[in-house]
Amino acid sequence: MDIHQKIESLREELRQHNYNYYILDNASISDYEFDIKLKELQALEDAHPDFFDSNSPTQRVGGTITKNFNTVVHDFRMYSLDNSYSKEDLLDWETRIKKMVDGNVQYTCELKYDGASMNLTYQNGKLVRAVTRGDGVQGDDVTANVKTINTVPLHLKGDYPERFDIRGEIILPIEGFLKMNVERVANDEEPYRNPRNTASGSLKLQDSSEAAKRPLECLLYSLKGNNLNVTTQFEGLEKARSWGFKVPQEAKLVNSIDEVLEYVEYWDKHRHNLPYEIDGVVIKVNNLFQQDELGFTAKAPRWAMAYKFKAEQVSTRLNEITYQVGRTGAITPVANLEAVQLAGTTVKRASLHNADQISKLDIREGDEVFVEKGGEIIPKIISVDLSKRPVDSIPTEYISNCPECETELIRLEGEAKHYCPNYNGCPPQVIGRIQHYISRKAMDIEGLGGETVALLVNEGLIHNYSDLYELTIGQVIPLERMAEKSAENLVNGIESSKKIPFERVLFALGIRYVGETVAKKLAKHYKSIDALIFATSFDLITVDEIGERIAESVVEFFSSDKNKQIIERLKAFGLQLEISADKLANQTNKLKGKTFVVSGVFETLSRTELKKLIEDNGGKVSTSISSKTSYLIAGDKMGPSKRAKAEDLNISILSEYSFMSLLK
Ligand code: AMP
Ligand code: ZN
Repeated sequence: MDIHQKIESLREELRQHNYNYYILDNASISDYEFDIKLKELQALEDAHPDFFDSNSPTQRVGGTITKNFNTVVHDFRMYSLDNSYSKEDLLDWETRIKKMVDGNVQYTCELKYDGASMNLTYQNGKLVRAVTRGDGVQGDDVTANVKTINTVPLHLKGDYPERFDIRGEIILPIEGFLKMNVERVANDEEPYRNPRNTASGSLKLQDSSEAAKRPLECLLYSLKGNNLNVTTQFEGLEKARSWGFKVPQEAKLVNSIDEVLEYVEYWDKHRHNLPYEIDGVVIKVNNLFQQDELGFTAKAPRWAMAYKFKAEQVSTRLNEITYQVGRTGAITPVANLEAVQLAGTTVKRASLHNADQISKLDIREGDEVFVEKGGEIIPKIISVDLSKRPVDSIPTEYISNCPECETELIRLEGEAKHYCPNYNGCPPQVIGRIQHYISRKAMDIEGLGGETVALLVNEGLIHNYSDLYELTIGQVIPLERMAEKSAENLVNGIESSKKIPFERVLFALGIRYVGETVAKKLAKHYKSIDALIFATSFDLITVDEIGERIAESVVEFFSSDKNKQIIERLKAFGLQLEISADKLANQTNKLKGKTFVVSGVFETLSRTELKKLIEDNGGKVSTSISSKTSYLIAGDKMGPSKRAKAEDLNISILSEYSFMSLLK
């Protein structure tokens, strides 16, 4: 087998595994083996750039940066849907239809997936473009992000038309959404509100490798094209499924509005068993000739109707309002409810957000309240049943002091939440901050868990994370559930954290709004904690992607003498508070503002090394050539189309040697 055949056969094999796993939900290979094969393919593709294919399974990881999404006019306008809410609405619709078409009418019932609509264009079995609905006439080209979605086939199988569009919904399954939020909360970021907005926001991420990390899916529901050779909606769904698309099996062909209603009622009851959210059902006239006869109104097809579910609501008693203190000191009021069944789960608590929310709705303890689960995962209180308010009810007075440490709360101008300012003495803040410090993405201290941290603080053995480095085995052993061995592991784990690189230490410090990415940016820019301590707000905002809010938070953190003292101690214990010397020796800003595309094979260094050199010197690496590319670094065996495109756009082409002289 020659190299090209080898590459093609690996691609085909990986595609099939991908299909089995994501579309059929039936894995045919372990993740590990899949990874090995993918790496093998990647290595072959790197060594033989002539055989580059933008739809190869290796392209799923993303990496393209898009600053501005191009506007694209749809070949077929993307209409909205008319809504119905009752049996009467549906019967009226049927009457209107029957006046306009001859013969029997069958309907395809589908679920109404709650996400972002998407139009995919395929040509010769390959995905060529993915565009958002936009205003229906034109949308944004988000191909780079959509390519990373595993349920979007990059290559079709079977007997597909030469060119067609297919429409679907980009959704975020509930489980994946919840996982993302667990991670955000652990990073002290505000959790996402609901799966729908998060899915549609994901399509506009500038870095497609970020989109690749999100567990998005694409569910398909409609074909558009000129020679599709399909006569009904239901047949279209089946065909699309056979070409490799994910078309949910719940779609059903029915013969009457009564059957439509059965379908609606069934799914209204059972929708909570689905892995994703739906907000109703879509009913479509099945026969495409009848669809043509019916045509469109100014905004929607006459042959389709959405049936919207009502957001589920129950009423229950609000027993007590309690207040939680987060690791940043933010206070969250919580409604403790009489347990009640709602949308398939038992609800005992609801978020009250903040003081304004409570006073706006005049929510009081003892009230009968209406609780709703709409698009949001956490139920919310939408109103109070005033007719049931007890006569002796008293208005809620928001707490003025911290429930954990009694300190008087503050509320900053323009912020909705109250804060406990007792940064160094409020137990949940102190414990939470140390728990964050030791967590996996921060200092990753082995042998020390969140509960032990709480124990250490409560026993008065530590007061902040710098105290960890003075803990002795003798101090730890007497703690609950500690043995000699585990105490040793704990102390060793703390000791090894001294090698963790600067950027992660910076993240571990727990500065408000400084998550992993921001920490990396700051570390790279300032190179040492001392430089960062001296940075002014004005200086900070000149750093790429650092806004005012982050800048102010950083300045505030380092203006505290206590924090500076803790950092001095960390320094004294030997933690990495600057970028290591050898890393630093190779870093400059010489390529600042320049974007490079690297293609082909090089003599003196690998592509990875070359990319690292570019980034270490302040440049950006992009995978595709556009008018924003500053240089194309061309190696041996570079694809001719890349060269042609670069020449077309007048982009300078460099050899590896001329690139090296740029750096000198
Ligand atoms: P609306 O935005 O309420 O006008 O509803 C129209 C939108 O419903 C379409 O743009 C699609 O994004 C979405 N939708 C979800 N599921 C379906 C489906 N099975 N068939 C058609 N549209 C659907
Ligand atoms: Zn407090």
